[in-house]
Amino acid sequence: MAEDFDDALAEKRAEWASYMRAYTRRNKDAINAERRARRAENREVTLAREKAWRTANREKVLEYKKRDREKRPEDYARWKRDWEKRNIDKVKARKKADYRENKDEINARLKKFRRENPEHYRKQRLDQSQRRRARLAKLPMEDIRIDVLYERDKGVCGICGREVEQKDMSVDHIVPVSFGGAHTYDNVQLAHINCNKARGNRDLSETREVINAFDVPVKG
Ligand SMILES: [Zn+2]
Repeated sequence: MAEDFDDALAEKRAEWASYMRAYTRRNKDAINAERRARRAENREVTLAREKAWRTANREKVLEYKKRDREKRPEDYARWKRDWEKRNIDKVKARKKADYRENKDEINARLKKFRRENPEHYRKQRLDQSQRRRARLAKLPMEDIRIDVLYERDKGVCGICGREVEQKDMSVDHIVPVSFGGAHTYDNVQLAHINCNKARGNRDLSETREVINAFDVPVKG
């Protein structure tokens, strides 16, 4: 008798649960709207309750966030970028504090990266100094993108005429910035970092002579 009753109860419960699921599905929008309205009405209370729940269930929250982040990484990246844009002072302060606290570790990491990627830093220094000189000389300046330059010059070095690998790319000013050459697309060409450095402020033909002396094939 008791067993029959338990079975019947379980069956009723399953029926009821299935009915509730269907009902919720059917009225999803209305239910959500009501929930939102209730939440807005008791904003303070709701927020406090939610916060208390989150504090008590830290692990669960972290796990949920992690899963959510894995599901839509680009949303998170965008939110982060937007937040950083709105809170630029906070970002700066945080970076400063972070640096102060982990100075040695950060410096060691930078040093290691620099040692392992010398061409990256050479290129960056070169780009920076060229831009700085152009700015100081108040010359016309465009935002030169090296990938655009690479496409335009078909991956060929304008100084030595050989192919340029991605890691060796640099922006060479045809008329050097120190001689009043602008930092614009019509005054720049793709060049090897080494060719660019070897050239310095020299005239192009003069540079080619130097490079020729080292028996490097030169573009016609
Ligand atoms: Zn070259």
